[in-house]
Amino acid sequence: MTMIYPKVALIGLGLIGGSFSLAAKRAGLVGHVAGHARTAETRETALRLGLCDSVHATAAEAAKDADLVLLCVPMGAMAAVAEEIAPVLKPGATVSDVGSVKGPILEAVAPFIPAGVHLIPGHPLAGTEHSGPEAGFAELFENRWVILTPPEDADAAAVQRLSDCWEGCGAHVDTMDPAHHDLVLAVTSHVPHLIAYTMVGVADDMRRVTQSEVIKYSAAGFRDFTRIAASDPTMWRDVFLTNKQATLEILGRFTEELFALQRAIRTEDGPQLFDYFTRTRAIRRGIVQAGQDTAAPDFGRSAAGKKT
Ligand code: NAP
Repeated sequence: MTMIYPKVALIGLGLIGGSFSLAAKRAGLVGHVAGHARTAETRETALRLGLCDSVHATAAEAAKDADLVLLCVPMGAMAAVAEEIAPVLKPGATVSDVGSVKGPILEAVAPFIPAGVHLIPGHPLAGTEHSGPEAGFAELFENRWVILTPPEDADAAAVQRLSDCWEGCGAHVDTMDPAHHDLVLAVTSHVPHLIAYTMVGVADDMRRVTQSEVIKYSAAGFRDFTRIAASDPTMWRDVFLTNKQATLEILGRFTEELFALQRAIRTEDGPQLFDYFTRTRAIRRGIVQAGQDTAAPDFGRSAAGKKT
């Protein structure tokens, strides 16, 4: 494949940054990858694993002369990193990110990006509950969506280059308005995570009553909740603090639905429960048909190995 970015700066060398580097290098889309992470330990691990060709003690050193600077740090750290790298950004360079929330991140980062540098925020809809450089793998983005949220006046050629790069990593790319992205993700990812965190919290509370039975007899539904609820606490704290408005909007609707189901159970309204579950089953089929999951038992996770 043709090289798109001769020099890439990866700020943040964890699951997403590491996976991007492995995928982009494998496809020949990037040349030198200069990396920065907060701790020397992560930087050394990233170098040892071949996620970067060089590592740097500061984000600014890594970003110098880069054609693409990809911010892969927790969302709470994005603005400070943008402020630090701003003075060294090369004219014509692209700055992008992988943060799970787009509107507030764009607002926090954009003021620091100098004229002549293209800011094109992005979000790969791919991940696992694992973190850190060792969690990265080249196949993470295969057949997954990456949503870019370029500003209205973004340079079309720069957007195309970034889109080509993600497609070369195996992803499908779509563009969206940032506020719309945040609402869609509140429904498909953020509130489901909050529900999983809550359900596992309830089970933890119940442990006192049921001793270890909650763990011993954990069935598929609860096991899936625990997998989701094992996700990185820093990332998810930042998701809810930054996507506050959309999360609260969807949570309000969720609570209304929950009350309706609660009432149907209390009044023994079998037809209502049956109709509801029939409707939700069709959504599951739609997701499988769209190739975003598999119909295999356990969602194919056991067959696909540990990194799903
Ligand atoms: P991760 O595995 O925990 O990696 C985070 C990286 O950022 C680490 O290398 C960490 O370095 C570095 N870092 C943290 N604070 C920093 C700072 N102040 N300055 C410089 N480097 C710093 O996290 P991740 O899962 O890759 O997530 C990164 C971003 O991707 C987040 O914004 C998240 O919203 C987004 N995202 C995540 C997923 C997912 O499922 N995980 C999916 C899509 C998007 P140290 O190890 O040295 O602390």
